[in-house]
Amino acid sequence: MKAFAYVNAANATEALASLVPDRGKVLPLAGGQDLLGLMKDYILQPERLVNVKGLPATIAVSSGPAADLAVIGAAAKLIDVAEHAALGKAFPALVQAAAEVGTPQIRNVGTVGGNLCQRPRCWYFRNEEFYCLKKGGAQCFAVDGENQFHAIFGDGPCHIVHPSSLAVPLIAHEARIHVVGPSGERDVPAAAFFVMPDQKIYGETVLEPNDLVTEVRIPIRSDVKSATYEVRYKQSPDWPIAFASVALVMGGATVRSARVVMGAVAPVPWRSEAAEKVLAGKTITDAVAMQAAEAAVAGAKPMSGNGYKVQVARTAVKRAILKAAGVAQA
Ligand SMILES: Cc1cc2nc3c(=O)[nH]c(=O)nc-3n(C[C@H](O)[C@H](O)[C@H](O)COP(=O)(O)OP(=O)(O)OC[C@H]3O[C@@H](n4cnc5c(N)ncnc54)[C@H](O)[C@@H]3O)c2cc1C
Ligand code: SF4
Repeated sequence: MKAFAYVNAANATEALASLVPDRGKVLPLAGGQDLLGLMKDYILQPERLVNVKGLPATIAVSSGPAADLAVIGAAAKLIDVAEHAALGKAFPALVQAAAEVGTPQIRNVGTVGGNLCQRPRCWYFRNEEFYCLKKGGAQCFAVDGENQFHAIFGDGPCHIVHPSSLAVPLIAHEARIHVVGPSGERDVPAAAFFVMPDQKIYGETVLEPNDLVTEVRIPIRSDVKSATYEVRYKQSPDWPIAFASVALVMGGATVRSARVVMGAVAPVPWRSEAAEKVLAGKTITDAVAMQAAEAAVAGAKPMSGNGYKVQVARTAVKRAILKAAGVAQA
């Protein structure tokens, strides 16, 4: 690993003062599970790391006259999200996703900010021998190569799937990501936080190199039912093959509106408005869930080796809908 300088920032102000606008020169370090691996593999070679474990790490769930809101600090651990009783009541889709990340060891070290900002797992990206589009090269090696875990939506030019399990339920629950940077603070809707490769090839979020995620804010609604359903390879702690988070806004037994978001199928969490339209105004049954799941994958364009993911994603969407509604699978 290339030698680097290290700054131990006590808070966001100190961390921001140590970051610079140049891409890759100085990087925030949270739990380090993703970043240190990339450095050991010579994919990233920063000159300085800024420890951001001093960012807010608390989880607050509050109700008030203005709004019912949950605020999760960027330095909160995944295990704290997975085991938080009030979060579990308000956002089942989120805690179910957090509880499935990796292994207990990974959840004990990984942070919310690091999880949202982790880099893609594409094996060509992670191998220093492959100078692909994302590293400034001229081609995507997944197109004619090993692409069994790559995207089935999005049309490239880079075919990664976004690796964050938290991103998907956060979009279903209409969360906002709080960002601080040199020009101030801003709240970015989770749905707009992740960007497609044709908009930005060297990164996966709207963040500039000297921006930091400090909090995630999620509105609490008593009329929402939600769930996440993941499909993994056997009992593997590795990333899911495909998964879905669904949030249903209920009016009695009828769905008033829905958010259906798929994970591990595209370079960003992939929302399906077609599936949401199928669910609106309906009572959830096995047949309605299947119809929505069909709509969710209708536009999929698998690559040479990942056609099987269409069926996996369809199943994940159907089961997430049934799980959210509390309806047993037929
Ligand atoms: C075997 C294995 C299985 C895994 N399975 C899953 C899975 O199923 N689902 C899943 O979601 N993840 C999975 N992970 C990934 C793991 O959850 C992430 O690596 C971890 O969440 C990253 O968090 P971290 O705090 O260690 O981040 P770091 O490695 O410290 O940082 C990750 C990136 O985020 C940036 N960063 C960190 N904090 C901030 C901040 N506040 N603002 C701006 N940028 C920041 C860093 O600069 C770096 O680029 C798995 C990991 C392993 C090793
Ligand atoms: S999918 Fe993206 S990261 Fe992977 S080889 Fe292609 S361009 Fe590189």
